[in-house]
Amino acid sequence: MACIQGTTGEWEMVIGLEVHAQITSKAKLFSGASTVFGNEPNANVSFVDAAFPGMLPVINKKCVEHAVRTGLGLKAQINLTSVFDRKNYFYADLPAGYQISQFLQPIVGKGEIILDLKGGETRTVGITRLHLEQDAGKSMHDQSPKETYVDLNRAGVALMEIVSEPDMRSAEETAAYLKKLRAIVRYLGTCDGNMDEGSMRCDVNLSMRRMGDETLGTRCEIKNVNSIRFAMQAIEYEARRQVEILESGGTVDQETRLWDTTKGITRTMRSKEEAHDYRYFPDPDLLPLKLDAAWVDDIAKTLPELPDDKKNRFIKDYGLTVYDAMVLTAEKENADFFEKVAKGRDGKLASNWVTSGLFGVLNKTGKDISQSPISAEALGGLIDLISDDTISSRIAKDVFEEMLETGKEAATIVKEKGLRQVTDIGAITAEIDKILEANADKVAQYKAGKDKLFGFFVGQVMKATGGKANPAALSKILKEKLSS
Ligand code: ADP
Ligand code: MG
Repeated sequence: MACIQGTTGEWEMVIGLEVHAQITSKAKLFSGASTVFGNEPNANVSFVDAAFPGMLPVINKKCVEHAVRTGLGLKAQINLTSVFDRKNYFYADLPAGYQISQFLQPIVGKGEIILDLKGGETRTVGITRLHLEQDAGKSMHDQSPKETYVDLNRAGVALMEIVSEPDMRSAEETAAYLKKLRAIVRYLGTCDGNMDEGSMRCDVNLSMRRMGDETLGTRCEIKNVNSIRFAMQAIEYEARRQVEILESGGTVDQETRLWDTTKGITRTMRSKEEAHDYRYFPDPDLLPLKLDAAWVDDIAKTLPELPDDKKNRFIKDYGLTVYDAMVLTAEKENADFFEKVAKGRDGKLASNWVTSGLFGVLNKTGKDISQSPISAEALGGLIDLISDDTISSRIAKDVFEEMLETGKEAATIVKEKGLRQVTDIGAITAEIDKILEANADKVAQYKAGKDKLFGFFVGQVMKATGGKANPAALSKILKEKLSS
């Protein structure tokens, strides 16, 4: 729980998010124009998107299906009747003069998201609604000193606006919410979740209240935040700003603000007085959207295992800690990779090598699992050599490094370098005898009570065997020898 310490007491953050998630679809919501990212400006524009007179919108079934799918993934109510409204405003990048959205009757109602927090704790955040709407075009002010250009490639692209209850209480919870939502839509395949390409953007609503208060304070809305890190920074800044106002006896103006990434501050975009009156009304070109209950049931049958279920299964089936299970299921590709490694092997061992070993390397080199220098099969091969005592965990670390460098199989490296561990009791005993003989003085000290020397003897035997002595056998024999 993040509370902010003011000069007059403690304050609590109250945060609700509106996330715009672009639906994965080849065509736009009401036209057949392409949605490919990065095309030449105005290459993806149909007459409908450009709002030529007489053009009529036709709903894209795939987008409706994805909205329903997402709703089901959020354990939300699916509304079999929903209505498209016109949200009217004038802007150069909105040729129709209105955006088609859903206002009073959205396609998806109340649902929930479970946040994964530090230490394996969870917290449930309510979803208020999810509705379908069109994206707007883009005004480009940086192309010419005198003119503004308009790119309509995004105009009409299908968005899901996902609105949360004001249930979050800190920047960390907000980050956890965004991560979980992104994971869910990626698992479902309904949005690619790429915030840097604008496929997921959020408006952060934040108000402050005295710790223990039940009523909500006046909120500000920080528009169009396009990364989780920026959302967290904006929240920290905005919370302090509001506390300062409230503690000096002022009131927070309900307004729309922007996060200035270069200055690291939020600043006013428009106040409540300047707020738009959108004059929503049902779009006369579109009938109410009626869904068949059987169709919704069919979609429900095709839902994949979602992050929460996968996490719980990993804990149960592989004996993983909540934390490891959370890390492994955050991205579906990572979870799939882990399951390939773990198949028929010790789950905990597999989890350690994937999370601490491989993820560590991937993080350092900025790669994702699809670019992993070691395949799941190869990592499994290394784990097999540990499990059947061919190599110790200590040697396995060196083999792992070698695999990263050369791309060779673990078994090949062990063979070429002669790393097979010595499990032959006779051979280990012989080495121990040699070391004890050469260090008779230390043996005497050990026997006189200097227990710490045990590690010294282990080290010496390991050194003599090139680190290849089986650690368990070595420790056992050494103990016997020293106690005789
Ligand atoms: P609007 O559409 O005008 O932005 P909504 O009532 O739909 O208003 O709320 C938008 C978001 O603001 C929701 O995510 C909601 O949880 C959040 N919210 C509403 N009131 C508060 C508040 N007092 N403090 C923080 N967040 C709030
Ligand atoms: Mg809003």
